Amino acid sequence: MTIASINPATGETIKTFSPDSESVIEEKLRKAAAAFQQFRKASFAERSQRMARVAALLEQRKDAYGRLMTLEMGKLRKAGIAEIEKCAIGCRYYAENAERHLAVEPVQTDASRSEKRFQPLGPVLAVMPWNFPFWQVFRFAAPALMAGNVGLLKHASNVPQSALAIEEVFRDAGYPEGCFQTLLVGSDKVKRIVEDPRVVAATLTGSDAAGRSLASIAGAVVKKTVLELGGSDPFLVLPSCDLDKAVQVAVTARVQNAGQSCIAAKRFIVHEKIAPEFEKRFVEKMRGLRVGDPQDDATELGPVASRQVLEDLDKQVRSAREQGATLACGGRRLDRPGFFYEPTVLLNAKGTRAWQEEVFGPAAAVARARDLDHAIALANDTPYGLGSAAFTQDAKEMERLIEDLEAGQVFINGMVKSDPRLPFGGVKASGYGREISQEGIREFVNVKTVWIG
Ligand code: NAP
Repeated sequence: MTIASINPATGETIKTFSPDSESVIEEKLRKAAAAFQQFRKASFAERSQRMARVAALLEQRKDAYGRLMTLEMGKLRKAGIAEIEKCAIGCRYYAENAERHLAVEPVQTDASRSEKRFQPLGPVLAVMPWNFPFWQVFRFAAPALMAGNVGLLKHASNVPQSALAIEEVFRDAGYPEGCFQTLLVGSDKVKRIVEDPRVVAATLTGSDAAGRSLASIAGAVVKKTVLELGGSDPFLVLPSCDLDKAVQVAVTARVQNAGQSCIAAKRFIVHEKIAPEFEKRFVEKMRGLRVGDPQDDATELGPVASRQVLEDLDKQVRSAREQGATLACGGRRLDRPGFFYEPTVLLNAKGTRAWQEEVFGPAAAVARARDLDHAIALANDTPYGLGSAAFTQDAKEMERLIEDLEAGQVFINGMVKSDPRLPFGGVKASGYGREISQEGIREFVNVKTVWIG
């Protein structure tokens, strides 16, 4: 894949980049290994100071970095700024809490003293996607660096300027050379980098195909991996819910980031008692969304990130219709330059491609459920298990949903979102391992058992 920024709102190529040569990759790996030998000894106070400086720089530069994301992958201007602010919050969270999460834990045994220590591992490769070009990277980098590791970023090939800006922010914050580097490489170089003895572990956020490939490469050389893969999150609407709120959140949860979020609500499962009313209001609101230029603050839905995403989305919607789903609104590309798709709702979509696969774009698949058992069965009828949301006021139903939904996270009466204070990750084909919170920072550490007789 060519490494290039292409503006999704116009289809124009803004800038192309030559991939790093073998000697440049070699030099970056050498620097990473050398940097780790120093950085692992830095105190938490030193690490925190630098991470807080990263947070401050992100805040200062939020307009410029937000704009970069809009230009490279079509994010709404305001959403870009909010994403940079969230990165700053993530950096501050770890600047303030990493020491606590990694404090030595004494354990009483037959020893005179025994304890758990949490030591850094070394250079970690992060293979990242384009949909949240900054946040995906920072939610890996802030905990990994606060734990004393160093980072190597292989970003998606369509967001090279974001990748270089992230490297720049760590450099400007005073991190020693080699602590955080961007590798401008295509996915064909991932195998060679993971197999390099200086790289000790890898994390990948992206599609399940990319995750499977990375996991098998890393498995063959016995290196730790964390995988944050795709999702087809269910959104359950039950009769006792606040319907106004459920409809409002349903629209936002489907079209946030032009529908290109791993934790976007993708399959809407509605109890048949309230389905006609929910469907009517949901379709009205989806149809009414203002589609347009992502730089314009009146826009509610911008373009999808690339021609490929647009074509894949269109194919899924067409197939779903051929398989019997009813098109309630949308269903086609917009007749204008750039990669725009109409907000789309497919009713009676159970069993279609739009139900079985991850739909990365503004198209919702809706199905009706007879009762709670049926709703849960439909929700779990997917290879994925990332997030899930349910709307109900019934306490017993809430408990059932929390217990029985097969997902890494269950949100009741709210939209699935990530928060540095809570772990984030999936089960089933959505991957393994956790990011953020205490669980996240403990993924790339050696949990060392110490026993003194
Ligand atoms: P993608 O095509 O899998 O790409 C993600 C990253 O993996 C890119 O850097 C890509 O590089 C690289 N890659 C692709 N194929 C690879 C391979 N065979 N071996 C090694 N690396 C490979 O995914 P995407 O289209 O950018 O992102 C969308 C996907 O990410 C969706 O499935 C979404 O749900 C998922 N996602 C998950 C989470 C989560 O937290 N669970 C968060 C965000 C997104 P190139 O760009 O050079 O191909």
